[in-house]
Amino acid sequence: FLIIYGLASCDSNVPKTISTASSKESKIDSILSKMTLEEKIGQTAQRGKSSRVKELPEDLKDAVRKGSVGSFLNITNKDDVKELQRIAIEESPNHIPLIFARDVIHGYKTIFPIPLGQAASFNPEIVKQGSRIAAIEASTNGIRWTFAPMLDISRDPRWGRIAESAGEDPYLTSVMAEAYIKGFQGEDLSNPTSIAACAKHFVGYGAAEGGRDYNTTNIHDNLLHNVYLKPFKAAVDAGAATFMTGFNELNGIPASGNQHILKDILRDEWNFDGFVVSDWNSITEMIHHGYAKDDKEAAEKAANAMLDMEMTSTSYEDHMKELIDEGKFSVAQLDEMVRNILRIKFKLDLFEHPDFNDNKDFLYAEDHLEKAKKAAIESTVLLKNRNALLPIPEGKKLAIIGPLANASHEQLGTWNFDGERERTITPLQAFKKDSLSNFEFSEGLSYSRDRSDKGFVEAIKVAKSSDVILFFAGEEAILSGEAHSRANLSLPGAQEELIDKLHKTGKPIVLIIMAGRPITLGNILHKVDAILMSWHPGTMGGQALHEIITGKVSPSGRLPVTWPKEVGQVPLYYNHTNTGRPVVPEEFVQMDSIPIDAWQSSLGNTSHYLDVGYLPQFPFGYGLTYSDFEYSDVSISSENIRIGDTIKIKAKITNTGKVSASEVVQLYYRDLVGSITRPVKELVRFKKITLEAGASENIEFECTTEDFLFYGTDKKWIVEPGDFTFWVAKNAHDELNSLHLTLK
Ligand code: BGC
Repeated sequence: FLIIYGLASCDSNVPKTISTASSKESKIDSILSKMTLEEKIGQTAQRGKSSRVKELPEDLKDAVRKGSVGSFLNITNKDDVKELQRIAIEESPNHIPLIFARDVIHGYKTIFPIPLGQAASFNPEIVKQGSRIAAIEASTNGIRWTFAPMLDISRDPRWGRIAESAGEDPYLTSVMAEAYIKGFQGEDLSNPTSIAACAKHFVGYGAAEGGRDYNTTNIHDNLLHNVYLKPFKAAVDAGAATFMTGFNELNGIPASGNQHILKDILRDEWNFDGFVVSDWNSITEMIHHGYAKDDKEAAEKAANAMLDMEMTSTSYEDHMKELIDEGKFSVAQLDEMVRNILRIKFKLDLFEHPDFNDNKDFLYAEDHLEKAKKAAIESTVLLKNRNALLPIPEGKKLAIIGPLANASHEQLGTWNFDGERERTITPLQAFKKDSLSNFEFSEGLSYSRDRSDKGFVEAIKVAKSSDVILFFAGEEAILSGEAHSRANLSLPGAQEELIDKLHKTGKPIVLIIMAGRPITLGNILHKVDAILMSWHPGTMGGQALHEIITGKVSPSGRLPVTWPKEVGQVPLYYNHTNTGRPVVPEEFVQMDSIPIDAWQSSLGNTSHYLDVGYLPQFPFGYGLTYSDFEYSDVSISSENIRIGDTIKIKAKITNTGKVSASEVVQLYYRDLVGSITRPVKELVRFKKITLEAGASENIEFECTTEDFLFYGTDKKWIVEPGDFTFWVAKNAHDELNSLHLTLK
């Protein structure tokens, strides 16, 4: 986290990193000593400008001139960025640069798949490249700070923001956290194409009750540490420059005023030395939460929790001086907040180089588009492929139907502000570009929520004259994201009705879903022959799907979330703890609904639904390819180890199919007995490999006993002697290859 700067110490015995870091700290001290109280408070303020206001308002410029603003968000015009920065550097009292922020979540101009899709790639390199590209493009507009990655564990697909997450698993989310941060921040934050990352929303926001956005979260201490905090710790370890608090209350205390998470954990335990920003008005929202009586008390609570910067609301600006006069907050505490903010401004080299390279050639560069296509390919999950319908051989006549077939804006997904729909390649466009393709197009429904059957007749006609139907279904972008939770998870509008009609034509159907969450399939599961989940795949999504459907490449995504059959099953996730009841017997496990008499006899009172059964539709980690993989020679280096030892788990993976494809080999473990109950399974490693037909690869996973640490009842991280089971698996339900280990 320490960076080597040009101005190194002359003392060659002192390591450069330490000396330069401390020289930065002394520069910060020197600036602090010259700042007035008003300027210090100014550094903690983040302001925005409404996009409706064209001209840069004079009062904003004046505020910068006086040193009353530390940061701006959403200044979209680069001349405005330049002018505000010029004022800050040249005219403000201590010439402190501003930091410009924006939600660059899954791309700036070149849009990559939504984060849930990127997580499905199980390929951190893809994610790192994507965020590097986002940083390169965004920095041409002077943006040096993004409000990403979102690291909220999401176990409930009703929650609209699951789209923005890496799904339900703390390990996968942690791996992706590191990839995003390394990509956004680059090798060195001082590089002008590096942008500061922001690990958000600290913490627990994804556990909103009922999936209703902004809602209460109650997360007991073990769960908080063993699941929800893990990706944030990974973010600190990866060098995340900033953190953002959540809108949620956590166990009765709103995240933005929560000293336990912001001080005890983030600062004292993890030694985070970047700065923390509130979410949009989240400090003053503590009044609504019933945790502060007014703005002043909200400011007092947030500041005492060491929340350094206030986004959009103005409680610090309006009340901090008073709070200091009344002894409710101190100048020393304020100095610490300002120090955190200035430290990141130094690391970004904004003092020396506040300017930026606004070369437009970086935007939508060829290489960026190519990588976005690769990301979309790697994110796409093949969920079903009856009779190997996919890939579709050349010469077949296709019927391209459905509301997402040519929806250039929708396929970009939620949290896209800057990607232009004109640059999107939709599936329809991709097929049009392919001179060999033979297809007819009929939308059928004009948008995902369309309930009208006006287009059905034409769509059925097109279907009847085809060999295969490609039905592009899903959700519009607006159906996921912030404040866009859904109580139903099925395809919206009349999509199911249209699929039912198309099914009656007797033609095989490939269902391609573009959505911000898993979609419950109900009866259509059996009416379609193949299913591809492409999430919202971004700018190059259509091209990627064309290559998958025609067999140029094999889909290689795996589910980063458990896919429910029915909304009533959620929350549903693989790494739950067990009940005291027996596991549902094998013969019932696969059933869609368990007959009442069976339930009365052999099932007893096990934990399941009478009408939906026991299993999800598809488990975490699931995904097919156009090939098959065989696992053999699965072994563990030792079955008896001691604390501190390392184990190696090996397997030979063979592509037994006819085409090149990628496999995601997943290593899960279970700690069988613990001083607190342990999850039935936890992902601990994974590896994505690509093998030609017939080829094999020996893979090796290395774990140390540190990997099995958990946060226990005495509030400590422990690993306990005992028995463990490991699985080298294709997904969270695959138990074919298990291994045993005893920790002495
Ligand atoms: C969201 C944040 C986002 C911020 C700024 C809030 O409403 O919760 O995730 O970064 O707005 O746009």
